[in-house]
Amino acid sequence: MKFQGPRGTQDILPEAAAGWQALEDRARQVSARHGYREIRTPIFEATELFLRGVGETTDIVTKEMYTFADKKGRSLTLRPEGTAGVMRSLVEHGLAQAGRIHRLWYLGPMFRYDRPQAGRYRQFHQWGAECVGTENPNADVEIILLLVDYLASFGLEKTKVLLNSVGHPGCRPAYAEKLRAYLAPHKESLCGDCQMRFEKNPLRVLDCKVPHDKEVAQGIPSILDSLCDDCRTHFDAVQKGLDALGVVYELDPRLVRGLDYYTRTAFEVHDLARGAQSALGGGGRYDGLVEAIGGPAVPGVGFSAGLERILNALEEQGRRPVFQADGVFVARMGGEAIEKAALALVRSLRQSLPVTFDFESTKSLGAQLKQADKLGARWAVILGEDELSASEATVKDLKAGAQERVALAGLADHLMKNRENAR
Ligand code: AMP
Repeated sequence: MKFQGPRGTQDILPEAAAGWQALEDRARQVSARHGYREIRTPIFEATELFLRGVGETTDIVTKEMYTFADKKGRSLTLRPEGTAGVMRSLVEHGLAQAGRIHRLWYLGPMFRYDRPQAGRYRQFHQWGAECVGTENPNADVEIILLLVDYLASFGLEKTKVLLNSVGHPGCRPAYAEKLRAYLAPHKESLCGDCQMRFEKNPLRVLDCKVPHDKEVAQGIPSILDSLCDDCRTHFDAVQKGLDALGVVYELDPRLVRGLDYYTRTAFEVHDLARGAQSALGGGGRYDGLVEAIGGPAVPGVGFSAGLERILNALEEQGRRPVFQADGVFVARMGGEAIEKAALALVRSLRQSLPVTFDFESTKSLGAQLKQADKLGARWAVILGEDELSASEATVKDLKAGAQERVALAGLADHLMKNRENAR
């Protein structure tokens, strides 16, 4: 019997793991530099949390959730996104309080029962950040910058920021009415889902993936003309903040994002090199979310970014992060005494350096060095009779070809310096 991984999932093989580690390390680094602290929440939650926190009219909730009953009959769902769980956690631990600001980030797998295709998986990974506890437009700017600066740190510059404001529950109903008036003559031609959305939440029509419906959505009245004074002032301040920092963006009145809980700012960052599935990440403000899941009225703004998509974009632009080829390979030539000394040397060097060696002690030096090359090592440390009797080793730079004798006592320091210099 042959097994295959479930449809829409991917194995990350050792070849690709270096790229993942680079993305994750950078996410940790950039988050910390912006003052964001990590939060880890379970990968499954009560189904009800997503119904309330993501929205009952969204595609995620109506079509894409991995929902199951546990042995006690509780309905649980594999998290389709990270924000609802993070807010649930803040509320549960009494940390969600108006005026108390939390800068948080998370990273991990998300699950959506979607049609798998390039850039779309059923298990995928998101790095996300949330700035909770303030309505200040500077927080929106900070969140957008966090994502933009993360992408720029990889040299991913062919990206585009799309920006919109979706208003708030005070001014959105008036826009929903305008939208219904615009959509009414097209209603019969819209897909079944959109006919339902038309009644329940017409903004969702803007999110439809059906080509005809997308075309209809091209001509919609702009939501920006329907914003109330407060939302308009907030949106102006977000734009001014981005302008002041030289962040280039495009206004997109059709950008409503896939989740119901967004208020005011909505944004996405797209990879210009891609047509479909080009969104690398996106987010927005969700001032009503914490209350919607039973907490106090606490505003927030955040984003999530798809790591698979970012990795693909990096690969396509020839910037795939690789495992640092600065490891050490210990080769040995000789009898039992050399073998013993070589294995002890491997162990001691491993306290400070990445070190491998060939398990076969009888291979020729040439064969061992070939193995070193295959493993991507940068330096070979060669131990033979000659070296051992002088308490030295030969260090060969496998890239430059040069070699030198180094005293065993100072070998680790010497190699570490070499690595430093090679960076
Ligand atoms: P969302 O939570 O839908 O706003 O998605 C945020 C980001 O996660 C998107 O911009 C994508 O980069 C990524 N993403 C969302 N859904 C998927 C998926 N099914 N497969 C891969 N990446 C995804």
